[in-house]
Amino acid sequence: LRQGYLGSSPYGISVVISLRTLELYRILRLRQPRLSIQAWIQSLCDLHNVNYRRTYWRHFSEAFDVYLKILREVETRVAVELQRSDDPHWRVKHSCPACRYKLVDDPTMDIEFIGSLDGNQSLKRVRLREGFEGDPRVFHSGYYIREGEVETFKHDVKPRSRPAKKKDDALKPKWGPDEDQVAAADGETACADRWKAAMNDALKRMWAIYRETGIFASACRHHLLWWICDMIESGELAKYPIAHVSRVLHILGYRPGIGYDIGCSFDGTISRSSLKELASERHLRFAVPAFHGYAHNRLCQLHFHPLYITGFGLEDMETCERIFSAFNGLAVITRHASQFHRHQAIDMFAKQWDADKYRDISLFLLNNYKQVQNILDELPDAIKLLQSGKSSQDLDYAKHLEAERLYLAARKKDSPQDARNCEYVSLLIKHRAAESLFAEALKHLGNPKNAKLRPRLEKDKRDAFDALDQITTMLADFERSNDIVSRWTPDSEEWKATADLLTKLDYQKALDKLEGLVVQRLFELAKMGLSGTGKYFSLKTRCRAIQTALAKYNAAAKKLDRPSLEWKDISTYGGLAEFELLRECREDIRAQPWTDSRNRQAAVHTLRLERAGEERDRLNIEIRRLATWMCDEERQLRQCVNHLKSKNPHLAAHVATIEAQTLRVNDTHRFRLREIAALPCFTGRIDPGV
Ligand SMILES: [Zn+2]
Ligand SMILES: [Zn+2]
Repeated sequence: LRQGYLGSSPYGISVVISLRTLELYRILRLRQPRLSIQAWIQSLCDLHNVNYRRTYWRHFSEAFDVYLKILREVETRVAVELQRSDDPHWRVKHSCPACRYKLVDDPTMDIEFIGSLDGNQSLKRVRLREGFEGDPRVFHSGYYIREGEVETFKHDVKPRSRPAKKKDDALKPKWGPDEDQVAAADGETACADRWKAAMNDALKRMWAIYRETGIFASACRHHLLWWICDMIESGELAKYPIAHVSRVLHILGYRPGIGYDIGCSFDGTISRSSLKELASERHLRFAVPAFHGYAHNRLCQLHFHPLYITGFGLEDMETCERIFSAFNGLAVITRHASQFHRHQAIDMFAKQWDADKYRDISLFLLNNYKQVQNILDELPDAIKLLQSGKSSQDLDYAKHLEAERLYLAARKKDSPQDARNCEYVSLLIKHRAAESLFAEALKHLGNPKNAKLRPRLEKDKRDAFDALDQITTMLADFERSNDIVSRWTPDSEEWKATADLLTKLDYQKALDKLEGLVVQRLFELAKMGLSGTGKYFSLKTRCRAIQTALAKYNAAAKKLDRPSLEWKDISTYGGLAEFELLRECREDIRAQPWTDSRNRQAAVHTLRLERAGEERDRLNIEIRRLATWMCDEERQLRQCVNHLKSKNPHLAAHVATIEAQTLRVNDTHRFRLREIAALPCFTGRIDPGV
């Protein structure tokens, strides 16, 4: 080792690998996680004109593990010297100075820190054949929440009473022991169902060949990781986010604001879990990520979209999407690795990710400040324009939102009575159709002109009779079980009322279909903004499907005298809010100030302006924290180097390299902080505090 070479085993060394080669591979791997050891060895062989042999791969792989272990040991010793090893959670408490490095004169905020959670299924690992899980080593990573800890939340939430099993349940994969566990999307809201429907598709594709089916991660809004845990032989179960939230509440403290795709229904899940008291004591607040917000209904948005929650600033909560799109690169090498190697690879990558994101904190702050600047420049004028000629009643946006919330919450579902009536009338209509078919068949049969066709007409008559018989039995059963004494006729009042209802239902159905398609399209458009995170569907096909749905909708709308829609209206829709309004059949609602589109636009602008103000306050705090952290960190590193110089010169040299790296990164930070200070709307300070 003193010569700069590392063998692959302690005894009988036949192959040694130079430390420089190992280090080069490590650095390359950090930048390009797809680079496998095999590819690396093969390129080395090409360089030296040697034939590739599989044993080289094994030797290198073993030496690389040892090398990484040595590096981790060095890291631990540095942590001891810096007095950072006593607290097992030192990393998560200090990795993001903007979130965590509190100063004495920090004001309190409604939401103290912002982060997000999400699961992702790209980092799967194939279950090795029985007896081949040969690697008994366990990798201990500070990022990981271990399986055992996650399992303690396994039965934390009681499943909601489920509706009777439907046929398609048989199609869903069975997860054996996990079957009685609650899925993360097991909330009371309609969004949860919508989400589950989308997730099921993904689940079906997950064969039982995987043991780890993905990872669940949490991170702060500056993209620095909090924790990671494995999802094991399951989809996104409630225990994963609960384990993360538990850590956030216990370790990171008060007033967290957390973004999660299904934050709306997960909020309910938490309130049924063992974390209930702690969550309300620490003022835990959930939100749904801004782009995912499209998929949630209007009422949910009013409660959970970051735009409508005081304190979230301009945060879009899409942090995890970005993390996963980077981590996806690891999938190639972790899929067939042992558990140890998979964790080692993820840990390595996570450290590099955090280092990169620490470097980017000042860029994040700068970009957000620029965004605030844009909003402050543009929105006040836009709002003035929208408000011109409006009465004071039109301008009370807080009241509008409250009215909308109340209205949406009060709107009730179709009553069971209505549903029953609809079923009855549909049956009656079918019955009448069957009757007339049978009469028709009899008429043809009785006509002497048709003598030649007799055998075929006989069959027609028999078929028509069977159909009529069947529907008559169903009708009689229905009447008996619902206590209907005299059969309704098209002239009866009940029939007429229900027929109206049916037309409305048709309309609603057409609207639902259209809404679903448009939402998907919005989703895809949003995804494209986040390149590399999803598949691209052909938008053209989607558009054609929307056109068809649109035609159906217009036909149904005509029957009800509702305004028809055109393609250009729909393609400009920005969310579900417009659809919720179309859903309204009562004209009196449409006369209220909160349904006026100009008022709505002005309200959204006003809210954005408010959020921009909050964002600026938060950025000012974060900027000062970063400035202070840089000074303190540099001072501590210098002291450590001086202290170690005589005691342990090797370690001192290593700490000095860390110091050099820190100084390099901090220089960029300082440069960007000065850039922020030069913005016209800057109201904070960039000198260090205490
Ligand atoms: Zn942060
Ligand atoms: Zn929702």
